[in-house]
Amino acid sequence: MTSKHEYDDQNIFAKILRGEIPNDKVTETEHSLAFKDIRPQAPVHVLVIPKGSYVDFEHFAAEASDEEIVDFIRTAGRISAETGISRGGDGEGFRVIANTSAHGGQEVDHFHLHIIGGRALGPMLSGSEG
Ligand code: 5GP
Repeated sequence: MTSKHEYDDQNIFAKILRGEIPNDKVTETEHSLAFKDIRPQAPVHVLVIPKGSYVDFEHFAAEASDEEIVDFIRTAGRISAETGISRGGDGEGFRVIANTSAHGGQEVDHFHLHIIGGRALGPMLSGSEG
């Protein structure tokens, strides 16, 4: 039986982590890497990924170590201040997205958060009233 968390190490973010593909780095820690999305949807669009091999949010939440989870969340939590989109800082807020599998519209099967801001982002879901 195949695991629902089966990880394909040929995905694009695994290649970025191995240095096979360049990235526009925002910050890096022992367990996490943040870099700019290649097709930004807003003035600020940063991807935050764990260095470990996790397919999606569910996999990461279930199987990452406490140390990896703390490192990842703290790293993601600093991006807004570092990019000037924090509430009450020099920005006006942002959105954090973790697309998961087909219905979530996940294209790259290595867990990542999108941190998006720098403009009003409109309704939460396409086709919704907001
Ligand atoms: P997903 O749809 O899986 O949530 O998001 C994947 C994101 O990765 C997309 O926003 C896409 O623009 C971005 N992306 C895909 N390939 C690359 C790449 O080679 N470099 C960077 N920086 N981003 C990428």
